[in-house]
Amino acid sequence: MENGKIKTKAPSASPRRKAPARPKSLYSQDELKEIFRRFSIQRPEPKGELEHVNPFTLVVAVALSAQATDAGVNKATRALFAIADTPEKMLALGEEKVRDYIKTIGLYRNKAKNVIALSQMLVDRFGSEVPRTREELILLPGVGRKTANVVLSMAFGQATMAVDTHIFRIANRLLLAPGKTPDEVEDRLIRIIPDEYLYHAHHWLILHGRYCCKARKPECERCVIADLCRSPEKTCDVPAPLVELPAQLFGPTP
Ligand code: SF4
Repeated sequence: MENGKIKTKAPSASPRRKAPARPKSLYSQDELKEIFRRFSIQRPEPKGELEHVNPFTLVVAVALSAQATDAGVNKATRALFAIADTPEKMLALGEEKVRDYIKTIGLYRNKAKNVIALSQMLVDRFGSEVPRTREELILLPGVGRKTANVVLSMAFGQATMAVDTHIFRIANRLLLAPGKTPDEVEDRLIRIIPDEYLYHAHHWLILHGRYCCKARKPECERCVIADLCRSPEKTCDVPAPLVELPAQLFGPTP
């Protein structure tokens, strides 16, 4: 998963935070329902694109994905996870060898250090199990709020909103949940997305941003919500046909 250069703030406790009122959105509740209904038809069971075999390898993969593409991380971790899919095996492998496996990934020296340190902490403090709360997850070296949210969602089925560069861009570009920081966007999205769509919303927005509402130039003629979108950047008002797409795609991440 990509991680753009966007500011982060201190973590807070719960995904659906207590809020006195629903924040104002440019979109009505009916429009929001329609937007996510269409995403749900496009990808009924969206999946993340980071390969992993258990919660531990997911934590490692997400931690490695900062400033890197999912495809690039997958290429490196396939061989690594084949021999080290538990904290103990990762520790036995050692930092130097981990570094060799992941040297094609940006910031690999620091990331190798973190992989070993988080494996050690899992063994020492969590009985070699990946913890199931955000508060515990963010104690692990190299794991921030975004990584914790991805792990809670993908490994433990919790509805979270891990704001990466795609979600941050979409929330602001469409004026869906504009905010200056990922935390602000996360907070607003969590509050405006209809409950029934919240669990998958994170992946729908990432995939929409990665393959349609792209960073440099949104491909509005291919967009299923072109009629509803209020982005000043949009170039087309006619929605693309609503057809089911693969749950996950691999390709160059813009
Ligand atoms: S219409 Fe264009 S700008 Fe709006 S969501 Fe679709 S791709 Fe993005």
